[in-house]
Amino acid sequence: MPEKAPPPVPRTRYCETFGFDRHWRETRLRLLGLSADDHVLGEMLQTRVLHAHAARIVERFYDHLLSQGETRALLNGFDLERLKHTQTGYLRSFGVRFDELDYFEERMRVGLVHAWVQVPLSVYVAAHAFLVRHMLEQVEAHVADRALCHRLSEFVIKVAALDVGLAGEMYHQAQVRELEGSLEALMESQQRLQRRAATDELTGMLNRGALFEALRQAMDSARRKGQPLALIMADLDHFKAVNDSYGHRVGDRVLRDVGQRIKSGLRGFDVVGRYGGEEFMAILSGTPLETAALIAERVRRRVGEAPLNLAGLKLNVTLSQGVAELHADDTPERFIERADQTLYRAKAEGRNCVRLETELGDDHAAGR
Ligand code: GH3
Ligand code: MG
Ligand code: MG
Repeated sequence: MPEKAPPPVPRTRYCETFGFDRHWRETRLRLLGLSADDHVLGEMLQTRVLHAHAARIVERFYDHLLSQGETRALLNGFDLERLKHTQTGYLRSFGVRFDELDYFEERMRVGLVHAWVQVPLSVYVAAHAFLVRHMLEQVEAHVADRALCHRLSEFVIKVAALDVGLAGEMYHQAQVRELEGSLEALMESQQRLQRRAATDELTGMLNRGALFEALRQAMDSARRKGQPLALIMADLDHFKAVNDSYGHRVGDRVLRDVGQRIKSGLRGFDVVGRYGGEEFMAILSGTPLETAALIAERVRRRVGEAPLNLAGLKLNVTLSQGVAELHADDTPERFIERADQTLYRAKAEGRNCVRLETELGDDHAAGR
């Protein structure tokens, strides 16, 4: 049977790798009715039958495989003489010290090699059954003592079941490993998709949908822990003029650079993203309004203190910000709306400044 690429797991480690410990191996043997008493049969099978006739059995075995379309196709491309040599080796170790770890390891390796070169399990089992039939014929032909012949035949059948069972176990393991591999790949691609769905393409920051979801979670968490939560809405001043004067490509660069400057003015644990157009949002958990105002002021300075350097073009940009704090009856929409109104106040009062919701007039307060 085919033997080509080395199996993916290091040799003599299969039992350990797949958790087939001594107890598992002993249970296998007990189930098959194989015990230490049978070693003598193993030796007899070799000396009386297989030593002399293994090569003949293998010849007939391959004649049979080559006479069948499906198995002939599977053998295509393999070095037949080498396969026969390997197969003869298999027969010369058949049933010898069957209860030792090495025996199990070798049978598992054989199974894994067949799974590896994609011989279907059904074909493997059928071919093995054919091999066993030939062995039994040879036992019959060369062991005259009927009682002994019967015992040897029984032994052959038990060992064959052990070998095929171990090989089948490896087919199963190979399949499980392959499934695990594709499951892992699937989960990775799902995570990649999720990340992409949450990301604003231009700036690489969180997008509107992701910000909204983050705000919802931050509100839940703030309420559960009884902590304050602040929201900053920030909008570039006169950004339309940047596009009009320098074009959209420069405008895009400005948005990216401003995004980074805003980020650098916030704390590592603040959540920030591009809410849309030239508008950014920052969610400041555990932060009261006054602290958020100081942070917004730092962000304002970061953006406006030095001109952006866009491939030699130096551009001054400024940011207006509105800061709101979570109220008991807020929905995310209402919370955002208040921060937005505060932002408009900053725009109306000259831009490049920070305004707090507490600075809104009574009409706004009454409406919330
Ligand atoms: P204000 O100070 O009142 O905010 O003035 P503004 O010019 O910033 O505001 P306005 O709403 O009039 O214009 C915003 C501009 O932002 C218009 C739009 O073309 C531009 N913009 C929105 N999204 C993008 C983008 O992805 N890339 C570029 N380059 N420009 C964008
Ligand atoms: Mg603007
Ligand atoms: Mg705007």
